[in-house]
Amino acid sequence: MAAAHVLVFPFPIQGHINCMLHFATALVGAGIHVTFLHTDHNLRRLGGRSSSAARSPLLRFLSVPDGLPDDHPRSASDLPGLYKSLAGGATGPYRALLAPLPPLATGGPSSSSRAADAGADPTGGFPLVTCLVADGLLPWAFDVAEELGVPAIAFRTASAGSFLAFLSVPRLFELGELPFPIGGDLDEPVRGVPGMESFLRRRDLPSACRRPKDSDDDVNPALRPLAKLSADNGKARALVLNTTASLERSALAHIAPHMRDVFAVGPLHAMSPAAAAASSSLLREDDGCMAWLDAQADRSVVYASFGSLAVITHEQYTEFYSGLVAAGYPFLWVLRPDMVMASQDASLQGTAAAAAGDGKARVVAWAPQRDVLRHRAVGCFLTHAGWNSTLEAVVEGVPMVCWPVSADQQINSRFVGAVWRNGLDMKDVCERAVVERTVREAMESDEIRRSAEALAQQVKRDVAAGGSSATELDRLVGFIRELNA
Ligand code: UDP
Repeated sequence: MAAAHVLVFPFPIQGHINCMLHFATALVGAGIHVTFLHTDHNLRRLGGRSSSAARSPLLRFLSVPDGLPDDHPRSASDLPGLYKSLAGGATGPYRALLAPLPPLATGGPSSSSRAADAGADPTGGFPLVTCLVADGLLPWAFDVAEELGVPAIAFRTASAGSFLAFLSVPRLFELGELPFPIGGDLDEPVRGVPGMESFLRRRDLPSACRRPKDSDDDVNPALRPLAKLSADNGKARALVLNTTASLERSALAHIAPHMRDVFAVGPLHAMSPAAAAASSSLLREDDGCMAWLDAQADRSVVYASFGSLAVITHEQYTEFYSGLVAAGYPFLWVLRPDMVMASQDASLQGTAAAAAGDGKARVVAWAPQRDVLRHRAVGCFLTHAGWNSTLEAVVEGVPMVCWPVSADQQINSRFVGAVWRNGLDMKDVCERAVVERTVREAMESDEIRRSAEALAQQVKRDVAAGGSSATELDRLVGFIRELNA
């Protein structure tokens, strides 16, 4: 049996890269060769940082074009553009990676077939790719693998809950729960997502379920394609999710009948070394905030970050800022340069920090988030409830205040507020008085802190040896090796 070699291919945005790199690192830890596929643009941005994770001779980073010109801005708000161009730009080089041409014959027997090539990859001394683990958002990557006879596994980086909601979209239409009625109450319960009948409301469904604004359409044009993508992931050999049974047992059980196999192996960041996180950061982390945190009292600081993609209006920025100042705790705020919509004010960050006065606030463009959440000074996390951020807060037992912006964040924040109770869900409201009150409650509530700490203990047990996620990871490693037998 030739050595197993997995090609790990994330959709090239921060949240997807992070958790798929943790996954790659976990496979390498199990002795499997991994090629991690970036885009040329991202690999250039990462510079030397990516190599710090590549200390293992079993891990290498390669890249493919994303189909956009070098000087294209690749803004966070143009994901559909990147989505389209990637398929055009990357397919050829990606296909060549899966089925490299054999080396020119040098006297020995030559063959043009993969199988007869007996395992040598002419592009770098790694064995031939024996398995693809691709982001479930990249259907063309699965098509090419299937055509070339490379077994493919789908990886979804969002929560199992949101994946199940997308699988349930046809049922929601059948039941008449979609589309939402014009002017209907977003607090109405939703019955069509199995296992979530007791707590899910219209406003908690993934944002693509809402009626599009400024349009006569009943349904967001992205909804049916997104639902189809999820259903089509069922054609892959298996589905891998960055979650754990103790967080999402019911959703996992309802997903299982739609898939050939399901592996819940998360939270993956809790299983991989911290160096892997730093090495996948597309923006340079501002470590200076750690010294600032060192100078703060235990559990006194609010950490605020809305992830790598969210864009807010200037008005929302002002409400958050005013609410944070009024709450009265020191705060560390991640304000990416492209985060506040239409802001021409390059000094926004400086203004925010200075206006908070007396060193009570620190504003950075990008933080070492895992280290921040682990710091004893952090008392709560004001977050957009992206799945990685949610898992990172859960593992550290940090109470959350959620203000979801898009995608799966709506459903994640409902789990936080109504199921796990490790935080509060502030969705659809952005008012300074509400920010102030909610942040105070998350900082002061013993009940929320106890739930957050209990959840952290439980999830740490899942990832420790013998825990559910660690056991699932072992099963997945065996599954991948078997594909190659
Ligand atoms: N992150 C970070 N520094 C920051 C903000 C975010 O390292 O200042 C990381 C965070 O730890 C997480 C990822 O970026 O791993 C964001 O992923 P998430 O799924 O939470 O949100 P997205 O960016 O996809 O909306």
